[in-house]
Amino acid sequence: MLNPQGKKAIIIGSGIAGLSSAARLAAKGFEVLVFEKNDFYGGKLALHVQDGYSFDMGPSIFTQPFVLEDLFTYCGKRFSDYFSYQNLQINTHNFFNDGTEILAYKGKANFVAEIKKKLDIDTSRLESYLLEAERMYNDIGKIFLDEHIHDLKTWTTARIPKALKALKWQYLMKSMHDYHTQKLQHPKLVQMFDRFATYNGSNPYEAPAMLSMIAHLEMNEGAYYPKGGMISIPNAVYQLCVDMGVQFHFNSKVESIITEEGKTEGIIANGKIFFADVIVTNSDVFYTYYDLLADKEKGEQIRQMERSTSAMIFYWGVNKEYKQLGLHNLFFSDNYKEEFDYVSKLQQPYHDPTIYINITSKMEPEHAPTGCENWFVFVNKPAVIDAHEDDVTATIKQHTIAKLSRMLGEDIAPHIVTEHTLTPTSIQSRTNSYLGALYGTSSNNRMAAFKRHSNVSSRYKGLYFAGGSVHPGGGIPLCLRSAKLAVEKILAD
Ligand SMILES: Cc1cc2nc3c(=O)[nH]c(=O)nc-3n(C[C@H](O)[C@H](O)[C@H](O)COP(=O)(O)OP(=O)(O)OC[C@H]3O[C@@H](n4cnc5c(N)ncnc54)[C@H](O)[C@@H]3O)c2cc1C
Repeated sequence: MLNPQGKKAIIIGSGIAGLSSAARLAAKGFEVLVFEKNDFYGGKLALHVQDGYSFDMGPSIFTQPFVLEDLFTYCGKRFSDYFSYQNLQINTHNFFNDGTEILAYKGKANFVAEIKKKLDIDTSRLESYLLEAERMYNDIGKIFLDEHIHDLKTWTTARIPKALKALKWQYLMKSMHDYHTQKLQHPKLVQMFDRFATYNGSNPYEAPAMLSMIAHLEMNEGAYYPKGGMISIPNAVYQLCVDMGVQFHFNSKVESIITEEGKTEGIIANGKIFFADVIVTNSDVFYTYYDLLADKEKGEQIRQMERSTSAMIFYWGVNKEYKQLGLHNLFFSDNYKEEFDYVSKLQQPYHDPTIYINITSKMEPEHAPTGCENWFVFVNKPAVIDAHEDDVTATIKQHTIAKLSRMLGEDIAPHIVTEHTLTPTSIQSRTNSYLGALYGTSSNNRMAAFKRHSNVSSRYKGLYFAGGSVHPGGGIPLCLRSAKLAVEKILAD
């Protein structure tokens, strides 16, 4: 095992996994330098302020706060000194074209009661589905999220027989949608639960039923709201890094990783060489191989893998309050299958998109001027750089405004007083995420977890990976875990 004292670690990128890798390594005694190409930290977790409105630019749904807390505990710090959050009683407000509105309450009992009231169905199937999702997560899912699944020895531990016993053939062989149709039956419930595939940028008609464990995280464990909004997460972890002595170089794009005889020696940034004993790359795994290592062969291999979806996001300052909306709102399409065919196969805008709106001014009114709201409006889009992106953006905007106006009962266009947009191209250029994919590679394939790159390079000694494009995948709780796994590897090597 490497003795960290006096050893130097370089982190490429200050996304949430880069920041948490930095803090963990500093806690173990490494001298840590973070190189970030932007003039801000946080990567996809960023803030946009415009005309008195403030918007969380990327993630908006926060689950599993204990994973974040674990980072602070590891560093010997008190979590509550850096970060606070609250429970949400209602996870999402769900709106359907026929006027049905379903509140996804936190906790089984309240949600089941709401479904009984709104859909007038026997809810025993839903209750058993939620129980099964919990079991699936506890018995199988945790192995795929918390363990080094690319290591043979992981598969010889005591947890494996229990996981194998819990594994049903349909978790792998059925699509999430077919599984939901069989288990939940009611089309609205099926659609609500199919949507969880999008939490890692997958397609419920292709992704294996196993992904239905994602529902457990929000529906059983619950969603939370960080005080100050999602930007408070990177703010807290950045402050932790500073307190742990991590040094930051902003506006410092890493141009290449220097290797000698299959071992990393350091990096080049701003025309200078910086040497290090270990390197953790938080940059997309494709760019790391293709550009930073100029390893075109491995880069091409990774490029072939299917990406998770990207998105079109409109940040709209709205000059009125909509009382029927909450923090998280969903406006579903009538034909989810057709919508996914448009998004993933035809790669064209769909006329009736499913729209997600996040409004943090519902929690903290100061995020918008008095009597106004800050809308983060999200529509799924394939991870593709369109040749005519402006036209595509205009079409999606038109569909989005038409649909919301219809469902909210008034023309919303005159109420949009300020606007900013984020597209696959801007996601790619801001964060170096290949094709603007939100969650790295997709989980549509049942072997996706194994195909995803591990947290350590088998080609270059001294090179480690943390972030949404590597094991265990995208999303904040998973990125935090990837940093933990990468650091475990460093300490074990
Ligand atoms: C619109 C949107 C909505 C999302 N919604 C959710 C959600 O609700 N809940 C959730 O959990 N997750 C969500 N996600 C996913 C989540 O944001 C990501 O999985 C996670 O933030 C990725 O973190 P990361 O550590 O991989 O780094 P990233 O955020 O990808 O950042 C990588 C960093 O590395 C830097 N970098 C890259 N290359 C170099 C280089 N060569 N030199 C120097 N610096 C470099 C980049 O500038 C960037 O700062 C969403 C993402 C987006 C974009």
